[in-house]
Amino acid sequence: MRNDAEAQHAAAMEKLRSALPRAGGTALPNLVAGEWVPGGPDTRETIDPTTGRSLADVTIAAPSTVDHAVATAREAGARWWNTDGQDRSRAMRKVADLIRDRADYLGLADTLDVGRPIRDTVTRDTERAARLFEYWAGATDRLRGATVPVQPGLFNVVLREPYGVVGAITPWNYPLTNAATKLAPALATGNAVVLKPAEDSPLSALLLGQCLLDAGLPAGLVSVLTGPGDVTGEAIVGHPAVEKITFTGSTEVGRKIGSRCGELLKSVSLELGGKSPMLVFPDADLDGAADAAVYTAFLNAGQTCTAGTRLLLHQSIADDMLGRMKERLAVLRIGDPLDEGTDIGPIVSQRQLATVRAYVASGLEQGAKPIDVALEVPEGGCFHPPVIFTDVEPTMRIAQEEIFGPVLSVFVFDDVGKAVDLANDTPYGLAASIWTSELALATELAAALQAGIVWTNCVHMLHPGSPYGGYKASGVGLEMGDEAIGQHMKTKSVWTATEDWRSPWASVRHEL
Ligand code: NDP
Repeated sequence: MRNDAEAQHAAAMEKLRSALPRAGGTALPNLVAGEWVPGGPDTRETIDPTTGRSLADVTIAAPSTVDHAVATAREAGARWWNTDGQDRSRAMRKVADLIRDRADYLGLADTLDVGRPIRDTVTRDTERAARLFEYWAGATDRLRGATVPVQPGLFNVVLREPYGVVGAITPWNYPLTNAATKLAPALATGNAVVLKPAEDSPLSALLLGQCLLDAGLPAGLVSVLTGPGDVTGEAIVGHPAVEKITFTGSTEVGRKIGSRCGELLKSVSLELGGKSPMLVFPDADLDGAADAAVYTAFLNAGQTCTAGTRLLLHQSIADDMLGRMKERLAVLRIGDPLDEGTDIGPIVSQRQLATVRAYVASGLEQGAKPIDVALEVPEGGCFHPPVIFTDVEPTMRIAQEEIFGPVLSVFVFDDVGKAVDLANDTPYGLAASIWTSELALATELAAALQAGIVWTNCVHMLHPGSPYGGYKASGVGLEMGDEAIGQHMKTKSVWTATEDWRSPWASVRHEL
């Protein structure tokens, strides 16, 4: 990056530093048991992927810190659950207000930490995080159980109780909204949370921790612990008093965490990777479809779990669609995410950039053909241009594996059955989108596609009230919607005799 861009980023970090919590020492502190505890001694830098410069030293929370956080979370959680639901609701609404008030800083944190364009972080992401807290604030006094008509003389009540302490582990993409997605339903259902953001993107979680404190949530109810997965993450997952793990991240790590929770017989929800198909039929609005195809593949530089990374085009419109997409790509701007006009920022890290490059190389080696996308890419930083591959075989690595970068694979089909087979032909099943004006076809396809989320003539629509989760290797369990209540609460069946009850043996008296 040019010197002026480096200066702009240094100034932005100075601004952010004034809002980040401090507790002495050079490293950023952690929120533990209601207090910011000084950072260190073990630390790791978080890097700005646009400039390659260090943004801050981040603490590596040791297992002993996890123990302390969990112990206070248990007490705070019990108090929180016994607080009037309307009071809990008010506190959660206050969190939403503070997120909006501090949107500039929260958005800036994610833009510097992961390179997501400021236009999206400051507005869209912060608003989404605020709305998550507002939506779930509405649930705190509506957590109903049930009565079951069992048999005369017995009264059965189904009670719901929080797990107590939920361990929440989030990935580096969309750091703020992923943290809010974990925190809001867990808190609304009466739990305490120990949150571990990804080591590549911890800044907005720390700022969010300050919002929770300032909103008056009980001390210790939420701890924010930074550190790598193999230290801090494993300590949270393995802690006996953390009864529920909610994880968002890669399928590989999800499997590991799922297995560990299986050994420990601990409840776990896993929101994992994707390789989502977008199917376009000849009767679709092709302009709308071309807009969506470019957006879903390259949004956030392709680092979106629900990204439409496999584009399935009916052969009669394939060339037309690719032409329309090229026009749209030509006017996209790849550049400094601090610039308001930037559409695509950098990849999160050098390590992830190397992964993306390796996938592009494997696509070329295996015979896929990149279409010419003449886009200017800034020098330095972790930038990667959008790549659209045609002539992709379903068995190629670029067709099967999640790349998590701006790489789109295009396939051509000539009948509906082949389109469905292609769409379902990966281990993943997170999302899918269908583009057609024929309602009957859309309905048939929605049933046939193996995906937890299906969009018809739209993409990336989410709402806290609508369940979110993956089929197959894309996940276990659901976030959001009423389904999320069951994911965060235990169910207890309570039987009460309303008439004299006697054991069956009481009628069979044995002679002494
Ligand atoms: P990772 O799976 O690498 O990491 C996710 C989180 O898990 C990080 O906080 C990481 O810590 C932590 N972690 C790693 N190892 C362990 C372990 N052994 N025990 C406990 N925690 C651990 O994912 P990425 O951060 O690379 O994120 C990208 C992935 O997330 C993609 O696959 C994407 O599809 C998926 N994702 C899924 C979404 C969904 O809703 N389905 C939404 C967003 C992303 P650290 O990195 O600090 O070491």
